[in-house]
Amino acid sequence: MQVYEGKAKKVIPLDDGKAIMEFKDDATAFNGEKKAQFRGKGWLNAQISAFLFKVLEENGIKTHFIGIAGDNRLIVERLKMYPVEVVVRNVVAGSLKKRLPLEEGTELPEPIIELYYKDDSLGDPMINHHHAKVLGISEEEIKEMESIALKVNEILRKYFAERGITLVDFKLEFGRNERGEIVLGDEISPDTCRFWDAETGKSLDKDVFRFDKGDLINAYEELYERLTGQAPTRR
Ligand code: 5GP
Repeated sequence: MQVYEGKAKKVIPLDDGKAIMEFKDDATAFNGEKKAQFRGKGWLNAQISAFLFKVLEENGIKTHFIGIAGDNRLIVERLKMYPVEVVVRNVVAGSLKKRLPLEEGTELPEPIIELYYKDDSLGDPMINHHHAKVLGISEEEIKEMESIALKVNEILRKYFAERGITLVDFKLEFGRNERGEIVLGDEISPDTCRFWDAETGKSLDKDVFRFDKGDLINAYEELYERLTGQAPTRR
């Protein structure tokens, strides 16, 4: 079975319907144009993802997470992934500023969902339900992914708010398991979400790297500690 190597992760299929998801210390931004390595980032993202998948499972969301398999590795259920990124936004930031005449930091009256087609050569273009249908993904499947994404948003937004952190936006990826169920896959980490300190607006996510806002590991460690209530034990 083929090992899949992405920019920040490796997925190693096992022969029992499971896979190892290994988080790398590599960081990339702007479709791979900006690159760097941060010692400890793989560990932090693996642990934060595991923690958030557990929170979601406890709240009734089906995820691919099975367990932690080492410092920067998770064991997950193998899924047939949809080539779609589902982005949920609560506050104006990032690429939304290019679409709506609203200032960064404006709270949205209700969450916005966006779909992107995962294709580096096209630069992950935004798509709608009609494009998805042409790609072989039915209206029903898209609606189910959107409905799960909104539930994830409700759970995580509240969870982070209780810890003084604003969940600004995030990206999810879904797949189908062997039983044909649509399941949340990939990762949920500061690489794939925007987290702002609710008081100061300080970024605790990959924008620190994208826009040179400070030390990435410090930001990810602060997020880890505020989320889990424990100091990070390893880099
Ligand atoms: P934006 O469209 O504003 O760049 O991103 C919206 C949210 O989705 C951000 O939290 C961002 O981190 C996440 N996101 C969107 N596309 C990608 C992607 O290709 N890779 C990663 N890691 N995150 C993404």
